[in-house]
Amino acid sequence: MQIRYPRKRSTIHNGSMTLNLAEPLTLTRSAAQNKSALKKVFQTIHSNSCPLTYNFHLHSTFSDGQLKPEEIMIQAVNIGLQGLAITDHHSIGGYQVAQQWLDRWLCQNQSQNYLRDQGEANPGLKPHLWTGVEINSDLMGTEVHILGYAFNPGHPSMSPYLQRQAPKGRDYQASQVIAAIQAAGGLAVLAHPFRYRRSPVDLIRAAANLGIDGVEAYYAYGHPDPWQPSPAQTQQVKELAAEYHLLTTCGTDTHGNNLLLRL
Ligand SMILES: [Zn+2]
Ligand SMILES: [Zn+2]
Repeated sequence: MQIRYPRKRSTIHNGSMTLNLAEPLTLTRSAAQNKSALKKVFQTIHSNSCPLTYNFHLHSTFSDGQLKPEEIMIQAVNIGLQGLAITDHHSIGGYQVAQQWLDRWLCQNQSQNYLRDQGEANPGLKPHLWTGVEINSDLMGTEVHILGYAFNPGHPSMSPYLQRQAPKGRDYQASQVIAAIQAAGGLAVLAHPFRYRRSPVDLIRAAANLGIDGVEAYYAYGHPDPWQPSPAQTQQVKELAAEYHLLTTCGTDTHGNNLLLRL
């Protein structure tokens, strides 16, 4: 991964150490688009990963969630999340605010660890925030939701999907959504495959044929408290993911005020 340093630099003083503020800012932005690190995490996800270690499905006030992005980040830090993505519907605004919050927080709290561990996997960057979005699309005549991760939000292919409304026409086709996310350097994931009119068997096969990267296997179809993935559905999605060599992801799909619950 190439890391660029802006010419304009500012410094902050943290105890006896003077830190370069520009470096963490650039690094967190690179980390947010680090697809290989995210793939590695997805390969380790299991039924207990969410909601205390990872969470890859969250909504903020930038779509239909109740939490401000800053509040999501504060909860993420308090929970001790290792990694997360805010996946607002057709918006990247929540991520951007969370990213700014994280930059400030890292500078204030973790700069020394962070600068020491700025390797490829960014082990010092906790929580690791990736870019995220949730996009409505048509798959086999059924409306489905496709999650995008680790993409470059400034890439032109993403523009139709970050307008705070569902895409139309050709842009609405699942094939286009998947291709756009991947062209922007990201991973495309079929969200909650048991929530649609068609069967997950058909939809996961069709999505796999379109080259989707993964499927959201660990998802709570009811509203359990404490949150836990629905066992029967998870098992079936895991089997289909294995059949089609898809990554499996987890998330609470939080819309309310608590990252540990769906509502
Ligand atoms: Zn959804
Ligand atoms: Zn959602």
